[in-house]
Amino acid sequence: MRVVIGIDDTDSHRGGCTTYVGYLLAKEVLGRWGPGAFRDFPRLVRLNPSVPFKTRGNAAVALDLEIPGGDVEELWQLAIDVVSSSARREGKTDPGAAMAVGGVPERARIVYRMALTQVVSAGAAERAGVRVWGGRGRVGAVAAVGAALYESTFELLAYREGERAPIPARLVALMELLTLPFTFHNLERSRVLIEPRGPDPVYYGMRGLTPHHLVYALRLLESWGFRPSGWIIYRTNQAADAHVRHGVLFERPLPYSYYRARGIIVAARRVAAGHLVGALDTGLEFVAYRHLGRLASELERCAGCDVVLYGWLKPRRGSLYLYVERARVLGRYVRGRGECPYCGGSLESAGRAGWRCRRCGTLFRTARVRWLYDASAAREILPRPGEWRHLLKPPGVDPSLPALFGPRGVEWIR
Ligand SMILES: [Zn+2]
Repeated sequence: MRVVIGIDDTDSHRGGCTTYVGYLLAKEVLGRWGPGAFRDFPRLVRLNPSVPFKTRGNAAVALDLEIPGGDVEELWQLAIDVVSSSARREGKTDPGAAMAVGGVPERARIVYRMALTQVVSAGAAERAGVRVWGGRGRVGAVAAVGAALYESTFELLAYREGERAPIPARLVALMELLTLPFTFHNLERSRVLIEPRGPDPVYYGMRGLTPHHLVYALRLLESWGFRPSGWIIYRTNQAADAHVRHGVLFERPLPYSYYRARGIIVAARRVAAGHLVGALDTGLEFVAYRHLGRLASELERCAGCDVVLYGWLKPRRGSLYLYVERARVLGRYVRGRGECPYCGGSLESAGRAGWRCRRCGTLFRTARVRWLYDASAAREILPRPGEWRHLLKPPGVDPSLPALFGPRGVEWIR
């Protein structure tokens, strides 16, 4: 019997916690039903990160399993036990679980697509046609059950028991050199990105396109002395633009939703904290945080640019601002030289007299401004790598490759 079981512990402010609870549950399932029970790698889905009551990383986990039909109740009880005992330990109140038996209902698939980009009510999760348990975490749990990962990447999460020993950047650089392009987002210059700083149980997390390269990378780190207490490989919707490609986008701007807006930048200025605040000709106001690096600095110099801005809408002082995640410049309106209305010749300054046509010599008091569209300005502007959100697809990552790999005959947990 096919069973997909999802868990989420919404109240956790410890980013790696949901993945750790998923790890514990996967170990339990492995112990009772063996590796053959896993139809795919455990699944880690990232959801709308701007939901106000979210966890830090807004992650949920699902296991896609094949178990004897008579064991379904046992599995459900096991999931609730694992989730609620971890919730008790962390002092949280709002975990959730969800389970689809026999197949995943279409309504659960829609909850996933909504949860990527919108704020989903607990009621919508209740009506998804899957069994649910718990509090606010039901939404993420149903979304994880409903996630169809057409494109995906892998993440190996390694956990720790004691302190987190800092991994030197030069070793991470060496690991990356030996695994490129099959691992990514390991470093930003000399800043190590695989090691989180929070209090969560994650020791390090490595992202990649094949499970084999991630296991190899783990072996390297272990051989250098960075041994985790346990680890797991998840298939994830990270780094695949799932929100842009599969999320539900509305025309109308709604608070805390993902939004795409086209327009011409008519203003952009730095405010006190160094953040960039600007406006499109449509009236939409946007914010690019200072720490996004070139995303902020390039938009600052982009007045007249015809852009598509992507980001999250947040209310602030009574209006909605688009917090830009990335920008696509389609072209730019630039002021051309004035043109003679009679012969089309270009105008040159004639001092106090005004402007003179170079071709026919006619004098004009004022020059007509001509706007040219500069299509060579077209480009994609991303934040600096350290500021990429989980869902954003980094340049050069091919999220169709991971579909080739399944968990059979691959080491994916310890
Ligand atoms: Zn002329």
